[in-house]
Amino acid sequence: MAQHIMLTADRPTGKLHIGHYIGSLKSRVELQNNGEYQNFVMIADMQALTDNARNPEKIQNSLLQVALDYLAVGLDPNKSTIFVQSQIPALNELTMYYLDLVTLSRLERNPTVKTEIQQKQFGESVPAGFLIYPVSQTADITAFKADTVPVGDDQEPMMEQAREIVRAFNNTYQCSVLVEPQGYFPPKGQGRLPGLDGNAKMSKSLNNAIYLADSADELHRKVMQMYTDPHHIHVNDPGQVEGNTVFEYLDVFDPDQKHVAELKAQYQHGGLGDVTVKKYLEEVLDAVLAPIRNRRAEYAKDLGEVARMLQKGSAKANITANQTLEEVRAAVGVNYF
Ligand code: ATP
Ligand code: MG
Repeated sequence: MAQHIMLTADRPTGKLHIGHYIGSLKSRVELQNNGEYQNFVMIADMQALTDNARNPEKIQNSLLQVALDYLAVGLDPNKSTIFVQSQIPALNELTMYYLDLVTLSRLERNPTVKTEIQQKQFGESVPAGFLIYPVSQTADITAFKADTVPVGDDQEPMMEQAREIVRAFNNTYQCSVLVEPQGYFPPKGQGRLPGLDGNAKMSKSLNNAIYLADSADELHRKVMQMYTDPHHIHVNDPGQVEGNTVFEYLDVFDPDQKHVAELKAQYQHGGLGDVTVKKYLEEVLDAVLAPIRNRRAEYAKDLGEVARMLQKGSAKANITANQTLEEVRAAVGVNYF
């Protein structure tokens, strides 16, 4: 019997990238295979609609792509319940009960949501559904009584908000129905992979990502255009490794950190060209990505099978979510009949 329950999700707004891999996918596969966790992995299509309501095709088209990325990194439908958020009606009802326990000003203070509102240039027109997505995320987590949520650093404010709601619910209704979740973060310094452009976060929406599905040629092109040190013009100039995306990726992806230290020393001293380091990074990344890319291509041959996998997973997830909903209804006192 598993001692812990894990839940995570991704928004189907495009294919998944190496930031997702480092921030969350890698931990999920480890937890899936260590035997102590019951795993739930959700494709958050309703959350994606909160800022894409007028572009539902994007979500539809991304659904199976995200599922393929899951299978490619080694998530196994026999060990992890992989499902689709919109197919689990209980989540919406839970969200409604939780919304009564959160204030508008608390939602507006959430730093991740604040940053995203700026990035998405909503101005005064923030969709209400977008503002409350941390509450719906709390419904996703608590419906499965997950205690462990493998996520990147940007999600810490969501975990805090979820814990607050859980405490408020259990206190208000004098029960212990809901479980407080903890984020499960990557090792220090790896929680938020920067984008190719040096932007603080690689993100599907910012168009600065290396995708798990990228071909070897695309990988080459993207690595060659990566942001480095703009003042490192001639090979012999001393270069900066801090804030230099190429070195930040080597820190995260190269198993040979001794070699990375040597390269850094040489770069800082002068005499190591950007193209040379980039070629090396390309090799390091390809060693990680080639097996993922190949597995992905295999699964992509039968998309019908991938869709059936999601359908089965969603049926299974409904059973658990409905059980929690019954307990929540009883706690709130709306189980009249
Ligand atoms: P969108 O732009 O649509 O929000 P996204 O690229 O931010 O997409 P999400 O689906 O929001 O991706 O995030 C899914 C998971 O991946 C979350 O746990 C998030 O913390 C993690 N994640 C996303 N981007 C990164 C990154 N650059 N580094 C580390 N983890 C990341
Ligand atoms: Mg995001």
